[in-house]
Amino acid sequence: MNGHSYCFTVAKPFDIISGDMENLNSIWQQAVSILEETLPESKKQWIKRINFEKEENGKIILSLSSNFYKETTEKNCKADIENTVSEIAGCEIHVEFIVNTARKPSPKQTTKEIKKEKKEPVSHNTTLNKQYSFDNFISGDNSSFAFNACKVIAQNPGTSFNPCLIYGGVGLGKTHLLESIGNYIDEHNPKMKIIYTTAESFTNEFIDSLLSKEKISSFKAKYRNVDVLLIDDIHFLQKKDSTQEELFHTFNELYDNHKQIVLTCDRPITELTDITDRLKTRFRKGLNVDLQPPAYETRMAIAMQKCRERGYQIDQKVLEYICQNVNTNVRDLEGALTTLSSFATLVGKPVTLDIAKEQLKNFIVTPAIRNSDISIDMIIHSTAAYFNVKEYDIKGKSRNKNITLARHISVYLASELTSYSLSEIGKMMNGKDHTTIMYSVEKIKSILETDDSIKQAVDTIKQDLLNS
Ligand code: ADP
Ligand code: MG
Repeated sequence: MNGHSYCFTVAKPFDIISGDMENLNSIWQQAVSILEETLPESKKQWIKRINFEKEENGKIILSLSSNFYKETTEKNCKADIENTVSEIAGCEIHVEFIVNTARKPSPKQTTKEIKKEKKEPVSHNTTLNKQYSFDNFISGDNSSFAFNACKVIAQNPGTSFNPCLIYGGVGLGKTHLLESIGNYIDEHNPKMKIIYTTAESFTNEFIDSLLSKEKISSFKAKYRNVDVLLIDDIHFLQKKDSTQEELFHTFNELYDNHKQIVLTCDRPITELTDITDRLKTRFRKGLNVDLQPPAYETRMAIAMQKCRERGYQIDQKVLEYICQNVNTNVRDLEGALTTLSSFATLVGKPVTLDIAKEQLKNFIVTPAIRNSDISIDMIIHSTAAYFNVKEYDIKGKSRNKNITLARHISVYLASELTSYSLSEIGKMMNGKDHTTIMYSVEKIKSILETDDSIKQAVDTIKQDLLNS
């Protein structure tokens, strides 16, 4: 079972053969505790949703609240479950999954949630946004390492993984995880002083403080006397030399006093430009974890959770369509759900698949263009010719302005015109990682909104490629 082996002690012999439901239910409950401790995070989330339904002919019948949950759980966890219940029982036991739409996701989870609702959180740390927690973060293979690391940090602030840097493209959950660390610590260690801020607010506050001596000393005192400092989007600090200098001293003071520091960034530290090396070295100490875009199953789980949280009524087939096609990031996924739900409310009827296709045009890249025969090499060739730079420079590391722009545009066009994933594009661009690729795509998207000459360049190269 997953390479692990377990030794179980069974308190009393179970009367499996006679089909004692009490016993099979009790075996199931023990199995849940073991599975919740031993399975990887990506599988645990499915276990939480299972309900014990009944015993039938010596088999355990388990239910899930939708067909999607049933199929995914069956695919991912059936073998683990059967191994565990069989080991507990000391004989082979099979499980079968059914759908029971009347069931809540999990009685265990529900009780926990009710308890939590009753306990009014006393927040001393007003910079935190309470809507983000580990409980409402769905972890998949794309995020389980970052998710687990953040939980360990929250449970033992200042002792392990200090500092920690979470990096990844837009909308992948960096802020969610950072705030969850703060909220968890605030709930379990209410005396700890926690500051959540963005690098932009930190910069503005610092500039503001320069007006007087009192202000600067209260700024320093504020940031150097915390137990936990959470700074979001540190890429914003590029080119802000004095703020970097201030953060450098803040960092050292906190670090030397074993205070927890967690930072987020939209790309790996190595890709940051215009940040002093000594600050980069500080950021790279400790643990660096990345967030990747979620796979289909995780997108489905996130979408279903968002619908439950926000009371959206969206048909299963439509949800599947959304999750198959909106694959960029979780923010876009949320945007697609909100668009459809608002549409349904406005027209007063449920959204059909055809309506969804029409409404989500902006979220989904047209397959007709993506299926063309354009290769990444063709894109690099045309872009290099347009900007009069060498093709190998586009794949290289030169920081020359013209080459960097041509590189970003090549990546953007590769994401627009080919069906390669961001990671695949990265590999073909001399092994750049997916986050760097996503950064280029986002960068060009935002430039296209404001810079007509670059928009014209991109359109010309694109048209040439489509005509070729
Ligand atoms: P980032 O800071 O990386 O740009 P955010 O943390 O702001 O992204 O996430 C964008 C939105 O997507 C937020 O509403 C967040 O709650 C949601 N989100 C992102 N990842 C997940 C996840 N794994 N599970 C649930 N919600 C998520
Ligand atoms: Mg963010």
